[in-house]
Amino acid sequence: MQKSLTKTLVFQLQPDESGQQLLDDAFLEARRVYNETIRRAKNGDRWDKIRKDLESDADLVNNTTQLVVQKSLEAMENYYEYDDYNQPSHTTDSAYPLRSNYEEGYNLFLEDDCIRYRISAKPYNPVKGTLCGSPDALEQLRHAIQSDAWRVGTAEAMRRNEKYELHINITHTEADIQDKEDLRMVVGVDINEDCVALAALHEDDIVDSVVIDFPEIKEERHRYFTMRKRMQNNGKSSFDRAFEQQEERFVHDQLHKVSRQVVEWVSQFEKPVIVFEDLKEMRNSIDYGTRMNRRLHSLPFRKLREFITYKAAFQGVPSDKINPEYTSQACSLTECEQTTRANRNKKRFKCVDCGRQDHADRNAAINIAKKGLATLDRNVPALKTLPNVRKLRRQASGCVTQPTVTHDTARGHHADGVAGVSE
Ligand SMILES: [Zn+2]
Repeated sequence: MQKSLTKTLVFQLQPDESGQQLLDDAFLEARRVYNETIRRAKNGDRWDKIRKDLESDADLVNNTTQLVVQKSLEAMENYYEYDDYNQPSHTTDSAYPLRSNYEEGYNLFLEDDCIRYRISAKPYNPVKGTLCGSPDALEQLRHAIQSDAWRVGTAEAMRRNEKYELHINITHTEADIQDKEDLRMVVGVDINEDCVALAALHEDDIVDSVVIDFPEIKEERHRYFTMRKRMQNNGKSSFDRAFEQQEERFVHDQLHKVSRQVVEWVSQFEKPVIVFEDLKEMRNSIDYGTRMNRRLHSLPFRKLREFITYKAAFQGVPSDKINPEYTSQACSLTECEQTTRANRNKKRFKCVDCGRQDHADRNAAINIAKKGLATLDRNVPALKTLPNVRKLRRQASGCVTQPTVTHDTARGHHADGVAGVSE
């Protein structure tokens, strides 16, 4: 199976004074294009009209204008699709990066001992120079320019900490991801606002399961939410963007750590595949009630999934998805499989038929893994007993406590004391 993998390399531009002036002017113009796009989109203007007007009106090369408008409209789209409060601002006052495609808005030239760049900041006004960066990043870029297996993609020129940088995306087009045919282990992933549950099944049995808690993300979001409300009540019509960015960075950082833990846990198995619930099916279904809705709109859901997917892909582990129907309501024991909303009460799963108790999200993760096996045309094991629920909790320091058994579930089959996942 082939799948594209993209990574971003960071370089310093070190332009001379006139180059700096050109770039600064272009950043301001890109910001104006961004703000204007958002303002008009909020105003209800047609998006194709916005595109057309700005392309003819902006003082940037066309390719850059198109990409900046595109990014602004994506921000609006994300807001409408997923986000509960974070409407993009049309009065952003920080410098906005210049985006462009390779060999359109920017170009690179290999020389014996360096890589030279040319960025079209303004029409007919390129900024030129030599890229600076770590030897490693320079080597990767050099390789990407020359090799057929790599594609050089869009880049963003920006000013960060008073330095001029160029962030270049390179994509590996033939990354080696395992064929699904010889996968041995399916790991079902159930993502929630404050935890992610994992269950590893192969054709004969469940092998292990774990719940990774991250309550601090929910707590932190709540804290910021309260802070914002208080500020608004004090008569400040718009809260400080800095708070928002602080929150975003915190959540982003935490989710990176959690996703790394997830991928480490998955990687202990031989030839695993990760299975998520299908986002599209979740969005299309209207009868899943508030739980599904809350999860879908919670920030961790989308991001964590994205982070897990690409980190796993870098390890050669593929991801798949299944229809999420009833995964949270069905009893995962094969001899029972009683399905009713009454089985679940928040984090507690208690089967109304067989009386089995479980962590509700762990139970869901097992059901997701079972569906994953079925989707891959594998034998789904007849689950008679389930291992105890093990919990890992992220601590503020970033370390993880030893796994603890929270409560007994099915008979026998004790957790085998696998050590905690560490970072
Ligand atoms: Zn049951």
